[in-house]
Amino acid sequence: RVRVRFAPSPTGPLHIGGVRTALYNYLFAKQHGGDFLLRIEDTDSARLVPGAEDYINGSLQWLGIKADEGVREGGDYAPYKQSERRQIYTQYVDLLLKEGKAYYAFDTPEELDAKRNEIKNFQYDAATRGLMRNSLTLPTAEVEQRLKAGEQYVVRLRIEPDEEVRVTDLIRGEVVINSTVLDDKVLFKSSDGLPTYHLANVVDDHLMEISHVIRGEEWLPSAPLHVLLYRAFGWEDSMPQFAHLPLLLKPEGNGKLSKRDGDRLGFPVFPLQWQDPKTGDISSGYREAGYYPEAVINFLALLGWHPETDQEIFTMQELIEQFSFERCSKSGAKFDFEKAKWFNHHYLQQKPVSELVAAFQPVLKSKGIEAADEMVSQVVSLMRERINFMQDLWDNTDYFFAAPTVYDEKSVQKHWKPETKPMLEALVQLIESLPSFGSDAQADEAHVMAWIQSNGYKTGNVMNPFRIALVGASKGPHLFDLTSIIGKEETLQRLRKAMA
Ligand code: GLU
Repeated sequence: RVRVRFAPSPTGPLHIGGVRTALYNYLFAKQHGGDFLLRIEDTDSARLVPGAEDYINGSLQWLGIKADEGVREGGDYAPYKQSERRQIYTQYVDLLLKEGKAYYAFDTPEELDAKRNEIKNFQYDAATRGLMRNSLTLPTAEVEQRLKAGEQYVVRLRIEPDEEVRVTDLIRGEVVINSTVLDDKVLFKSSDGLPTYHLANVVDDHLMEISHVIRGEEWLPSAPLHVLLYRAFGWEDSMPQFAHLPLLLKPEGNGKLSKRDGDRLGFPVFPLQWQDPKTGDISSGYREAGYYPEAVINFLALLGWHPETDQEIFTMQELIEQFSFERCSKSGAKFDFEKAKWFNHHYLQQKPVSELVAAFQPVLKSKGIEAADEMVSQVVSLMRERINFMQDLWDNTDYFFAAPTVYDEKSVQKHWKPETKPMLEALVQLIESLPSFGSDAQADEAHVMAWIQSNGYKTGNVMNPFRIALVGASKGPHLFDLTSIIGKEETLQRLRKAMA
């Protein structure tokens, strides 16, 4: 059975790269009718950040990445939070100690520092173990006495040199390293009674029957150690398969995408807005920036995976059907901010107009504008193709709801001529004489155009100032779409006001 897990550490807000990891896990699980677990890896107590776990849950929920098992969801393999699994880890650490696959080490941080200064490229391993204070070098009685006395220690994995360690990765193929390059990793610290990431991660993946470990490339260097841990426990036969996902790179491609790139380019790198509990600093989120979750999912799915065809728009269901590791790239994926906007534009065009109207009405209210849903819906239908985000709608449509109070200077200079005023006065008379003006864009246009022709005016000489009077600048939609929405009286008032 396919069982995968997303295993974030609640040390801060979930980065957008972490969201992609969660998404790929989810897609793979659903494709195989398997289980997607959310496990909270909170054993590094010094780095825990209040609110981070809620933030992770909130982000996944917003994006529709639903866990089958987890802290909130429960499940047969509970608890899903590592800090609640201490006894389990202690048991497995003891097992390795008993079998001589791990050992106690009593070196203080100062002693370790001293060794690092003394020996170039010092590595705590088979070659240097003998120099240090540990249960492999001290007499058994002394070890027992130190433990009894409550002395601080760590437990280290005993890594034998010159063993071949093979990691088979579904994206990168085979990686083979020699165990000599690895150090005797710390598995457990008595100071907080907690295991390190490596031990807890491997024990949990085994106990939770994880079939595939899908995670970011930054964990690839840890994979050989994990393989050795499975070996030490005798679990190598049921070891999960690995898939290390390519890094998300800066738009320029030079290095890993970071929070600073977001600040530098004015673009969110977090799914939701986050306030740092220590500094109070706020980092923007996709949700608050006006992105739809579908757009974020679609855009993230294509950062590191590419479909067989040139299809770009995918529903979650289509992603579930088409996702594959064979089509994941080995090299990093450049973050394309403009493309993210393009996806949002696309999804905004797909929304039911009524949903957009409901989202826009509160904005209008906040500007003191009372407008009927029907009129707002006409405006939204006409103007939505010009925006990427609902936030941008007001700036693109304000003149539908209120007459301009200022007129763009450049436009006026260019189009407002001495003969403009008498021409617009005549236009006012024309419109006054048309009983149904302002209810049908095509009819309005036909009337005005016929009038322009019969008077021998130049179209631009009339239409440009007409537009300035209605919009306040040389911008906006087809002008008769505007007149048919604001109506005859409002059109006349704006013309008179502009001439005054
Ligand atoms: N807790 C690790 C993290 O924060 C999990 C890495 C893994 O998936 O093994 O990313």
